Amino acid sequence: MKLSKLASEIAESPTFALNEEARLLRERGEAVINLGIGEPKNKTPISAVLASAAKLTSGEVKYTPPDGLPSMKKAVIRYTEENYDRLVAPENVSITNGAKQSLFNILYSILNPQDEVIVIAPYWVSYNEMIKMCMGIPVVVTPEDGTFTPRFEDIERAVTSSTRAIIVNSPNNPSGAIYPPELIEKIVNMCEKKGIFMICDDIYHKLTFDGNVAVPAYHFTKKDIENSHIIVVNGVAKLYGMTGFRIGWVIAPHDLSRVMSNVLAQTTSCVSPVAQAAAEGALNGLQSVVEALRLQIQNNRDVLLQEMRTFNGVRLIEPAGTFYALPDIRAFSSNSVEVSKFLLKKAMVVTVPGKEFGMEGHIRISFAGSVKDVTDGIARIKWALDPTSPNEIYIGDKKMKRDWM
Ligand code: PMP
Repeated sequence: MKLSKLASEIAESPTFALNEEARLLRERGEAVINLGIGEPKNKTPISAVLASAAKLTSGEVKYTPPDGLPSMKKAVIRYTEENYDRLVAPENVSITNGAKQSLFNILYSILNPQDEVIVIAPYWVSYNEMIKMCMGIPVVVTPEDGTFTPRFEDIERAVTSSTRAIIVNSPNNPSGAIYPPELIEKIVNMCEKKGIFMICDDIYHKLTFDGNVAVPAYHFTKKDIENSHIIVVNGVAKLYGMTGFRIGWVIAPHDLSRVMSNVLAQTTSCVSPVAQAAAEGALNGLQSVVEALRLQIQNNRDVLLQEMRTFNGVRLIEPAGTFYALPDIRAFSSNSVEVSKFLLKKAMVVTVPGKEFGMEGHIRISFAGSVKDVTDGIARIKWALDPTSPNEIYIGDKKMKRDWM
């Protein structure tokens, strides 16, 4: 069969693939623990449920403007004012099917073939594939060994006359790192000086621990939104645990928003008004739901750190935000794909190989699930890899003995 070369070269999403594998194993009755997917276990906030239910019962579920319902945009404008200290206009806001579509539409709207986009490792798996889908070239900047924060000089050195954008994701998936404000400031200045877009993927911006804050890029520019090169992406998936509603948004200069609106109109038309109403409900409802989720995730992170302390050989940089940790497992193997496969086969635990995030020798562990998932999951990983851990363990109701070392 003859298919598009471009599309055929796009890699499968490893997190979705692993999730499917875990689901199939669970269906077969295996006691799988999924530390792979980044999805909080909370129920949808009640304000979101009620708002979307009201939309449904109205019977008025029709197309909306391509870039979003005016009322949804209003909720985003208020959110941006409260959380970013920026007053933006409806023309600067685009509502999309998840932050994923936001990112794709931005890239599609700013890139010409062979344009370069700087991506900082470890990076979220989809950036590079999306850049390639838009005929651009990802240029990866990797931090020095032992840190997840890049050196500004390395970023600056990666800039060429073809660089159109840099994607900055802080708090960072998969490492949980928050980049220091000085670094953000330097990137803002560099982008403004060189006319490069700074795409801030802020999807985890409030999921921070121990009083750490992710300072928004907007704080470091005096330019108004129309002249700024900063583009902000956010959504309800992570902060409100509303992954299935598929609502994200972009804050951008009007010229870019206009092009993105045409892209939206010619591809997905608009986002379902039921989902938009839900997101609106979440943004306009009690914000204590975000704090409750943050506290629960912080507690999970503390449990994870506690469990990891007795894991001989593994090095872990404490996550300052998100719900991911990226331990260095090179003491056992530098092949993260093999390690993740081994952990699924022997210990029935799903992790994601660091290789997928441009950080070989590491595995990503999500602590978005329950405390029990975290404690049992780490116990199983220790059992499978660390010879100093107890030799026997229960996986479901099966007593398992380690016989490979
Ligand atoms: N950016 C990052 C860094 C993410 O981790 C994710 C989700 N895993 C997204 C964007 C996409 O979010 P959404 O579910 O809203 O499409």
